[in-house]
Amino acid sequence: AGLGERERAMVERRGRLLGPAYRLFYERPVHFVRGEGAWLFDAEGNRYLDCYNNVASLGHAHPRVVEAIARQAALLNTHTRYLHDTVLDLAEALLATMPASLGHVMFTCTGSEANDLALRIARAHTGGEGIVVTSLAYHGVTASLAELSPSLGEGVPLGRHVATVAPPDAYRGGPDMPARFAADIAAAFAGLRRHGIRPCALLVDTMFTSDGVFPDPAGLLAVAAAAAREAGALFIADEVQPGFGRTGTMWGFARHGVEPDIVTMGKPMGNGHPVAGLAIRPELLERFGRTVRYFNTFGGNPVSAAAGLAVLEVLRDEGLPANAAAVGAHLMEGLRALASRHAIIGDVRGAGLSIGCELVGDRGTREPATAETARIVNALRERRVLISASGPGANILKIRPPLCLTRDQADIFLGALDEVLTG
Ligand code: PMP
Repeated sequence: AGLGERERAMVERRGRLLGPAYRLFYERPVHFVRGEGAWLFDAEGNRYLDCYNNVASLGHAHPRVVEAIARQAALLNTHTRYLHDTVLDLAEALLATMPASLGHVMFTCTGSEANDLALRIARAHTGGEGIVVTSLAYHGVTASLAELSPSLGEGVPLGRHVATVAPPDAYRGGPDMPARFAADIAAAFAGLRRHGIRPCALLVDTMFTSDGVFPDPAGLLAVAAAAAREAGALFIADEVQPGFGRTGTMWGFARHGVEPDIVTMGKPMGNGHPVAGLAIRPELLERFGRTVRYFNTFGGNPVSAAAGLAVLEVLRDEGLPANAAAVGAHLMEGLRALASRHAIIGDVRGAGLSIGCELVGDRGTREPATAETARIVNALRERRVLISASGPGANILKIRPPLCLTRDQADIFLGALDEVLTG
């Protein structure tokens, strides 16, 4: 409907060439040719406000990252089996943002590879296999991660060594929610043990993004990690989405006052360039390091390392975590003001620029407004604002703009949402 000639031809060509496994966003797909800051530009030159982004966190095509990539690519690109300073500088700069207990960094190209490596190391260290994840978790695209990513749906079966727990939903749960979450984790590991599967790791996105964005109460993850460790499992913080300043602090786990055993990272780490990795307590890597020779052809290459370093420098120089905290607070305040006029807004929650806005048919029953949410996402697209939804009822607006979002841009989003909710 309303698709231009050129876009219709592209959709057809795409299906013919790429096959049926890919999905486009929106009933009326968008064709972007350029990005700058929080704006994306389509082939006709129309600008769209990107409130969905979780990769180009510094803003699209940030000149300092582009320059760092170009400069290093023009000089040399090899791999981690030759000596090179840039990858060491990046490792050092990353560790400086982490608790002192984390002492080594390993590099991959994608968040999936980082999680896969974390699980291999955790297995080698614990001698166990059992993994606990949340009921709508997403942790990656490889075979080993798809089988512990229940958000992929029924067509992708969970592994026998995987158990799920309900996410820490502070909107639907009562005040005892953190204790219940910890008890669920303990019970999940005990259940695996009963089937002869020894505990290996609790793996969670520290903002529970695909479950529906559950940031509160701060401290919750400390209780959850304690339950995992009590069971003999490691606590792996998947920071692929929350990491690099999105939550207003450098890492999502920091809000919870917990020190993870392993931190995995990716997406915004290269602001669009594929660079990912993990940070780990050195003692956990001993056995794996003794028995495994790890080489990842592209992981930690000089160009990726230069991109990663530039990202850390820009985050610092432009004060982006602080901007995410300030503009995120302004956005949530605006959403709460909209809630006073639009009964469909049941809950607003978030940290920094990782925000969930839950839409319900009835504030009493909290029944998910699933169809209405899909209408709103598409109607926002027609107003050139990009956003998506998640959660079991697909009724939670996921708001994740680049960290450089200004208050004025936040107000553009709020204005568009107000119109769409009114219309
Ligand atoms: N973990 C989380 C929490 C993610 O959101 C994603 C990507 N959506 C991944 C891991 C996998 O990262 P990648 O797509 O880079 O493999």
